[in-house]
Amino acid sequence: MDQGMKIVAVNIEGNGTFAQDVPALAETIKASGAELVLLPGNSRAKRSAAAAAMRAGAEIDTNVVDLELVDGKPVARRWVYRQRIFTTFSRAARPWVIVTDPSLFGEICAKVGAEAVPFAAASGATRTTVNGVENAGTGGESTIKPDAQLLFVAGAGWTKKQADGALHFDEAAETITGFLGRSGASLGSSKSLVDMPEAAAAFKFMSHMNQVGQTGSTPRHAKGLSTCCHGEEPHVVGWRFVNERRAVNLDANCGWAQGKADVVYVADAFAVMKKVNELLG
Ligand SMILES: Cc1cc2nc3c(=O)[nH]c(=O)nc-3n(C[C@H](O)[C@H](O)[C@H](O)COP(=O)(O)OP(=O)(O)OC[C@H]3O[C@@H](n4cnc5c(N)ncnc54)[C@H](O)[C@@H]3O)c2cc1C
Repeated sequence: MDQGMKIVAVNIEGNGTFAQDVPALAETIKASGAELVLLPGNSRAKRSAAAAAMRAGAEIDTNVVDLELVDGKPVARRWVYRQRIFTTFSRAARPWVIVTDPSLFGEICAKVGAEAVPFAAASGATRTTVNGVENAGTGGESTIKPDAQLLFVAGAGWTKKQADGALHFDEAAETITGFLGRSGASLGSSKSLVDMPEAAAAFKFMSHMNQVGQTGSTPRHAKGLSTCCHGEEPHVVGWRFVNERRAVNLDANCGWAQGKADVVYVADAFAVMKKVNELLG
């Protein structure tokens, strides 16, 4: 055995909760000062080992069936790919937590001469006491309203240079929120808009939660109105439960016009929505 490497074995047994075991195990790993920490892969250890290793700044591998020191370097073995491939591997990171097959724990500890370290989880009540309930929202009014009749989608066009060659973030934000306030519609967005950091300051009322589409949500409003959104397939798949669909786009060949909307208004959405807001009063 390599005398220079400190290897400890923490034999966790019995019952314990995640909340109590994680801090106790992290502390045990840190306090041991060991480079290698061996744990048996029973259900209690496996429940907490990964979180404890992360807290202790350690790397972790599980299901190890063999460990040896080759020229002072720890080399582990485990099966992968549903026991089809037997791998031999090592890590440079320390501490390295190795969770062994539970039946091989004693054998592996003896083989590498691991020093046993006791494990004591904190005892006492851990039941959470509820002091009060606070809404997890941002503090502002939510723009996502599943019960609304209308889904109003804002696309990245609201943040593009307009006919005058300028950007109109604030005007866009005001027009969109003005419509939402008047109509009670739920706000959807394209991925391009919510992914745009330069628009984030002006469009604080929306987040990735508003994104509709393949990698977003699939809302179920009766009607949908898309504005400044191209209507590309990864977005439109999110509309599969929205049966009545209209879109406002400057481009007569946009995706909505390719049979994805019932009506496409080829028009400037800034002008259209301002007029709509005016009419809604
Ligand atoms: C794997 C994958 C998953 C994806 N998932 C999603 C998803 O979940 N949701 C999603 O939305 N996208 C998704 N996308 C991206 C999607 O393909 C499109 O890139 C995105 O929807 C484009 O957003 P947009 O139409 O708002 O922007 P753009 O393509 O930039 O279109 C802007 C539109 O605004 C119009 N416009 C500009 N100014 C005005 C104006 N004044 N008046 C009217 N119209 C105007 C333009 O004509 C243009 O059509 C995904 C893509 C991939 C590859």
